[in-house]
Amino acid sequence: MGLINTEAIVLRTYKLAEADKIVVCLTRQTGVVRGVARGARRLKSKFGASLEPFTLIALVYYEKEGRELVSLQQVEILRSYFSLAQSTEIVHAMEYLSELVLEFTPPQEPNDKLFRMVRACAEALAEVPEALPALVRYFEVWTLRLAGFLPNSRGCAGCSRRFEDGENVYLSGDNGLRCRACAGGTGIALAGEAYAQLRAIQKVGPVEFSRAVRSVRVAVWQELAQVTQVLIARALEREPRGQATFT
Ligand SMILES: [Zn+2]
Repeated sequence: MGLINTEAIVLRTYKLAEADKIVVCLTRQTGVVRGVARGARRLKSKFGASLEPFTLIALVYYEKEGRELVSLQQVEILRSYFSLAQSTEIVHAMEYLSELVLEFTPPQEPNDKLFRMVRACAEALAEVPEALPALVRYFEVWTLRLAGFLPNSRGCAGCSRRFEDGENVYLSGDNGLRCRACAGGTGIALAGEAYAQLRAIQKVGPVEFSRAVRSVRVAVWQELAQVTQVLIARALEREPRGQATFT
């Protein structure tokens, strides 16, 4: 309660009344927070351009007991991504990624690993925007993993054998990854190349990852999407609204 000072990433905003905005952000200290930015839609607002999606901000907000919405007091831009807003595809992707964060994160539950992952992905997208399809997969895999919905990808859920690099693996109905023999012709196939990327995503940071995958074919990301998006739909028990664009 009282004044909270934290680093935050703006996820989305909504219009409120005539001049205000509701701002949803992922904060480092207190997780997902919803707040009111008074006067944010006026031309000479103290919030300026600081409430654009994925802007990294130093946020001071006031929290009153029993109120769901906090009150944004001060916002300072630490890193903005204006250049990303030029691409409709990237803007749509960021809406989808914001939706994932909101769906998988209970309100006001801090998660430092998630915060650092989202911040690093925004940075990677700014640096290597052409890696968008790969980064969306990266983000999905890590969101699933941090929320406890990513199956063990090292070995077979049936025979416990460690998968080899480049091996074809299969996602079964019970969310286990299995080898060809254990899958017995069932499940969603992930061919060797896509499986290798699923492993790579879990080993390196997003900037390094985006630089390394420049030559990977789009089809590989589409194949990986079949697995990540089934896992997401099973975890949420529905398909996220923004998902269709990124298969
Ligand atoms: Zn097996």
